Amino acid sequence: MNLPVADAHADILWKMEQSGEEFYGTSALQASAQRLAVGGVKAQVFALYVSPLESPEAQLHHMLKEIDLFYHQVVASSKVAAVGTWNEFVKAQQVGQLAGLLSVEGAGCLQGDPAILRILWRLGVRGIGFTWNLANGLADGCMEPRNGGLTTMGRVLLAEVVRLSMWMDIAHLSDTGVKEVLSLTAGPIMASHANCRQIHSHPRNLTDDVIRELIVRKGWLGLVFEGNFVAAHPQPDMYDLFRHLDHILELGGDDIVGFGSDFDGASHPLKGLEDASAFQQLAVAVVDRYGKEIAAKVLWNNFREFLHRALPDH
Ligand SMILES: [Zn+2]
Repeated sequence: MNLPVADAHADILWKMEQSGEEFYGTSALQASAQRLAVGGVKAQVFALYVSPLESPEAQLHHMLKEIDLFYHQVVASSKVAAVGTWNEFVKAQQVGQLAGLLSVEGAGCLQGDPAILRILWRLGVRGIGFTWNLANGLADGCMEPRNGGLTTMGRVLLAEVVRLSMWMDIAHLSDTGVKEVLSLTAGPIMASHANCRQIHSHPRNLTDDVIRELIVRKGWLGLVFEGNFVAAHPQPDMYDLFRHLDHILELGGDDIVGFGSDFDGASHPLKGLEDASAFQQLAVAVVDRYGKEIAAKVLWNNFREFLHRALPDH
C-alpha cells in the first residue's frame, strides 16, 4: 500500500515545453504521469518556470504555452485534476486523481502589471515566486551579490498577490527580499524547494530565522533534492537530506515541512532519488527514521493543511 506523497515543486511543464516530451506513456520526464503514480504522488505543484534571460514578452509567451500544456495534455486525462480551490482538492482525493496545482517560478514576465497577475489567477495559478536566482523588475534573487529587496514594481505586485490571496513562494528570493515579504504580508508563504543554510551553507537555503518565521506563521517548507543544496560532498543521498529534516524538526517545524523535489529542473539528483518513482523508497525511509506519525505529516498532511489554509474554499 502506497503512502500518499505531496510534491510542491517540479519543472515538468518547462521540460515539456522545451523538449516536446509527453507527460503520459513512455516518457523521459523525471516526474512523468507513470513515475508519479509509482511514487504515490497525490498532489503535485507544476511550476511555471521560464528562462529569465528572455525578454518579458517572450517569457509570457512561454508561460502561457506551459499553462496550455497543463490543461491540454496533463489534465486532459482523468488521472489528473486541475486544482485551484480547496473543494477541488478534496474532490480529487475522493476520486483518486492527482491534484495538480500551478505556481509561477520567476515573474519577470509580469513586468509588475497586476492585470497579468489577475489573468494568471483566472487561469488557475495559485502561487507565485517573484524571482529565479538573479534580479528582475520585481526583486533580487538569492544569487545577486548586492542582496537587494523588492522594487516599487514588486511592492505593487505583492499588494495584488495579497488581495487575491495567492501564496508567496520565497524559495529563490534574496535574503533582503524574504525579510521584506515577511514584513509586508500576513498571507500564505511557502518556500517550495529549499533546504537549511545551517546544515549546508548555500544562498538557496534558508536561515534559521526564516524557518522559525515560517513555523510561527504556519507557512510551509519543501525540502529539495538538488544535490548542490543538500551537501558539499559529490554524491549526496536521501540520508544527507534527512540532516536538513532533523534540523527543521529540532526547530519545531513538524507541522510545516515536506518535500519539493525539483524534478525535471535540478541538475544534480540525489543518489537513489533520481525520479518521482523513488518517492515510495523515500517514504519508507522517512517512516523508519521518524515514525509513522511524523512521516504522515511530512509526506502528505502538512502540505494538505497548507493548501487548506491557502486556497479559496470554492
Ligand atoms: Zn527552482
